Amino acid sequence: LRILLLGNGGREHALAWKLSQSKLVEHIFVCPGNGGTHSLPNTSNISNISPSNFYQLVEFAVQEKVNLVIPGPEQPLVDGVESHFRKGCYTSEIVGIPVFGPSALAARMEGSKAFSKAFMARHSIPTAQFQTFTSGQLDDAVSYVTQCGYSVVLKASGLAGGKGVLIPETTEEAIQGLKDIMVNNVFGDAGSEVVIEELLTGPEVSVLAFSDGYTIVPLPAAQDHKRIGEGDVGLNTGGMGAYAPAPVATPQVMDQIMKETLRPTIDGMRKEGFPFLGLLFTGFMLTASGPKVLEYNVRFGDPETEALMLLLADDVDLAAVMLACVRHHLDSVNLTTRPGIAVSVVLASKGYPGSYGKGKVITFNNTPSDVVIFHAGTANSGDSVVTSGGRVLAVTAYAPTLQEALRIVYAGVDSVSFEGKTYRRDIAHRALTATEP
Ligand code: ATP
Repeated sequence: LRILLLGNGGREHALAWKLSQSKLVEHIFVCPGNGGTHSLPNTSNISNISPSNFYQLVEFAVQEKVNLVIPGPEQPLVDGVESHFRKGCYTSEIVGIPVFGPSALAARMEGSKAFSKAFMARHSIPTAQFQTFTSGQLDDAVSYVTQCGYSVVLKASGLAGGKGVLIPETTEEAIQGLKDIMVNNVFGDAGSEVVIEELLTGPEVSVLAFSDGYTIVPLPAAQDHKRIGEGDVGLNTGGMGAYAPAPVATPQVMDQIMKETLRPTIDGMRKEGFPFLGLLFTGFMLTASGPKVLEYNVRFGDPETEALMLLLADDVDLAAVMLACVRHHLDSVNLTTRPGIAVSVVLASKGYPGSYGKGKVITFNNTPSDVVIFHAGTANSGDSVVTSGGRVLAVTAYAPTLQEALRIVYAGVDSVSFEGKTYRRDIAHRALTATEP
């Protein structure tokens, strides 16, 4: 297999790390990649093509005899990258390179919250009560938040880089939030539709599941840590750490999730004519009345993927799993996970998620051999690796017990130095509380 992997985060490094262990894989091109991806066996970075330039990507893939494309982030999927490789949109010739990822139609499940909420309503999938309004309907939206009878969450419907959600504390704040989204366009075009939904409470889990459009195979539930500060305080980030499995997602909860959400989602999408092929990430809140869907993402999560790649059993061949998805025989592959727990701790630049400096030299000193360090915002500068983004590295470890995984992963964290290194010491603390006597 010759693979083209799109993206430059810790997620893509983790995917490339697992893929590079496959006997099926001859070469992985990561576009654009980061300061770590090209160090993997048979892997190179492609930095002279923009990952959003589908025309050049297709040309490159044809030239290099690529036969599997894996988009990491959501934007190319929502923008229809799949059809460019499948049928070629700039030439009359069929390109015919399979993509592990959904079509633009199926990617609407992430690209439009208004669309996914309406889908859930049509298929009786448990989710928060809601109502959708377009930007010209401010008065209707205001009267809805004053009369709906529940505390609300306001969501820009389109892609807003994980920042398009407001949780107002009073009705006045909710009305101001609506004006900000619908009139002041604080989320730009993403806010041209707004979803007003019921505020739910409970622990959150993410379930990442492979699907070939028919079969669905979930991985153990993961928990992310969105806030910058320990104890879940401060600004929201892209994610400061993750671990899996999350003990709160008991086997009963996972059964319920499979039966009430994942199965009807995959069947519903196929029946409505936009089958889901790829990795479906569903965010849940485990409420007192059962698991409810907060959102769908149509790709791997970051940093959940870093932890999950280490949780997969050594003999799981990720390339074979992805091929089985594009060939519609996912039921025939091995997707077992190891019995312990995997933890990933993100090291960020000082100032993140606000503004931060770049170009700080990163050094690694006696990193324990059972720690895997995935690069995210890193670049090469001469012989050095330097910081180049907000989230810099994802230090990841697996062990049979949580205590052991935490000991190893934080030894890994301590072995890395760069000016302004910022991280949380309490990743997976929720699982620790759950397993303590
Ligand atoms: P991301 O992709 O970064 O997870 P997003 O912008 O796609 O975020 P959501 O996942 O829908 O948006 O919401 C972001 C966060 O807001 C959730 O992880 C959750 O903490 C909170 N949230 C969303 N919907 C609700 C709700 N109905 N009740 C309570 N909290 C919610």
